Amino acid sequence: MTASYVCRIDPNAIVALDMHVHIEADSHGHFSLDQPLMEASAAYFKAGSDRAPTLDRVAAYYREREMAAVVFTVDAGTARGHPPLSSAEIAQGAAAHADVLIPFGSVDPLRGADAVDQARRLVEDFGVRGFKFHPSLQAFSPNDREHYPLWQTLSELGVVALFHTGQTGIGAGMPGGYGIKLRYSDPMLLDDVAADFPDLTMILAHPSVPWVDSSLSIATHKANVYLDLSGWSPKYFPPQLVRQAGTLLRHKVLFGSDFPLLTPDRWLADFADLDVKDEARPLILKENALRLLGLR
Ligand SMILES: [Zn+2]
Repeated sequence: MTASYVCRIDPNAIVALDMHVHIEADSHGHFSLDQPLMEASAAYFKAGSDRAPTLDRVAAYYREREMAAVVFTVDAGTARGHPPLSSAEIAQGAAAHADVLIPFGSVDPLRGADAVDQARRLVEDFGVRGFKFHPSLQAFSPNDREHYPLWQTLSELGVVALFHTGQTGIGAGMPGGYGIKLRYSDPMLLDDVAADFPDLTMILAHPSVPWVDSSLSIATHKANVYLDLSGWSPKYFPPQLVRQAGTLLRHKVLFGSDFPLLTPDRWLADFADLDVKDEARPLILKENALRLLGLR
């Protein structure tokens, strides 16, 4: 058995830490989503031919760029009826590339107590540093009391909870959005969780379209809430997000790409053109993430 993940990232050697990278294929040829969803999301993002690189390839890609990356899958087994990739395997893969990768786990909140047990095992036996949730894809309301034991456990374990918020490219352009409901990803549902679990460090992912003002308010109000800027090219960020990312929220905002759907190369090139103060840039690109992951 591979040893549990131990981070070997040198904070001074990396130029950026990408907070949001999806592993969508494993070494056995399985994919995280069923084929219609993989194809529709690739079209929506105009992703290149390499829609689903394996973990080893992701590690090489980031190592080449002197960047670190948080990697994860999403277990939406109950809602989507498609078997998830193994978060234990992702953590073991990241352990073999601990100079560049940080593993987050994923559990299916609809599995109740099983999800809580699995989360605990992923932290204690495999060393994952946080968890990724996608309320729309996983079809759950984060503020529903039935999920509170999960948030309580993550809070006690001292790991980060990262939530997809806003519109999603998964199911986009398909009839009925393939049954995927956007309202589960309203960030205001997470304001309840942040209030009830003040020791749980939470990240609201993406510009939360059409609820960007909600996310900005929550991150301003709740000390335990951060924002990641993944999933959209900075060129299309709403102006209030750009303004606050460089000023009021400069210690709360994190670089993320959403690779492989959006490349860090594209994101960083467009970020360079944004009207953000120079002193805020290193905070957004790596320092805030290093601090919140306990790597500084
Ligand atoms: Zn994501």
